[in-house]
Amino acid sequence: MPSSTYPVSISTSWRELASKVLEGSAVTKAQALAILESPDEELLGLVDAAFEIRKRHFGKTVQLYFLMNAKSGLCPEDCHYCSQSKISDAPIPKYNILSRDKLLEGAKLAAERQSKTYCIVISGRAPNEREMQAVEKIVPEIKQKYGLNICACLGLLNESQAQRLAAAGVDKVNHNLNTSQEYYKEICTTHTFEDRVETLKNVRKAGLQLCSGGIIGMGESRQDIVDMAFSLKELSVESIPLNFLHAIDGTPMQQQEYLSPRDCLRALAMFRFVNPSSELRIAGGRERHLRSLQPMGLMIANSIFVGDYLTTQGQAPTEDYRMIEDLGFEITGQATLPSDVKDCDHPSACQASMQNTQSSCCG
Ligand code: SF4
Repeated sequence: MPSSTYPVSISTSWRELASKVLEGSAVTKAQALAILESPDEELLGLVDAAFEIRKRHFGKTVQLYFLMNAKSGLCPEDCHYCSQSKISDAPIPKYNILSRDKLLEGAKLAAERQSKTYCIVISGRAPNEREMQAVEKIVPEIKQKYGLNICACLGLLNESQAQRLAAAGVDKVNHNLNTSQEYYKEICTTHTFEDRVETLKNVRKAGLQLCSGGIIGMGESRQDIVDMAFSLKELSVESIPLNFLHAIDGTPMQQQEYLSPRDCLRALAMFRFVNPSSELRIAGGRERHLRSLQPMGLMIANSIFVGDYLTTQGQAPTEDYRMIEDLGFEITGQATLPSDVKDCDHPSACQASMQNTQSSCCG
């Protein structure tokens, strides 16, 4: 990881710092940077301290999210990390917004996977009218049938679009800040950090919850990671997905692979200290970068995606369930399946087939 230029020397033990956070004190940027710069020898103590904060706000619960890539590729933006951008040569499926039936099949799979939240994600700079109407139409149906929370990730939104989503019953909107304000121009030139903040403010004005996080491992400094965590704090973001860059061949960042599992744990811990009561989700890159240390990550974070990511594969859901059980944790907030819906016997194949726009195998 590139070194930071921010000099700091913190002697406070991580447990003491956690106690102060639990008493209501906010950590400083210097303390947050010290977390990222802490040596491997302190890692166990750091995770232990972050677990104290996690326990206070979330106990031993884990919330599962399920991603549906409802429109893939065809994006005019140039986000350098993204396989769906106009400058990516990655061989991904490209399709316009999925039909009502496929979105419903995805919701059924989300419920079967014990998810609390179904994330409807479309590629693109901003939703067009057809996409807005498709989401407005399907959301009440999904909520009525499966009782899932809905998170919509549709790109940049104006005030009116955010209000329409709220009226349709969307619970939260995802729009990641991705990195610091300072570093943003290095990862995208077709829109700005300020554009993203504006969308989050429009979402908040509409009364919706904010889901916003970022990606670690794009060549940013540790100070950039700290600055992003504090930007999310200023926006009082309720849910923070933290991704670890999965460098995809065909994207400008295809060579960026330098994170260690310990770097990932330190980043998760820093976000937990800075945003103690926000839901913290280990997102894309979990399996690839945390590897055998995934359970330690879940002692800091309280949420994961179950199943595949937008254009990359996750591990089998059975491995996630086993990890949660082995930790003595429990899944919380899952939707209740209607009695007329049978369990899918082969969910992985089903999700894969849907993401290739073929028929679901359990429909
Ligand atoms: S992150 Fe979103 S806006 Fe950026 S290129 Fe990918 S799909 Fe387009």
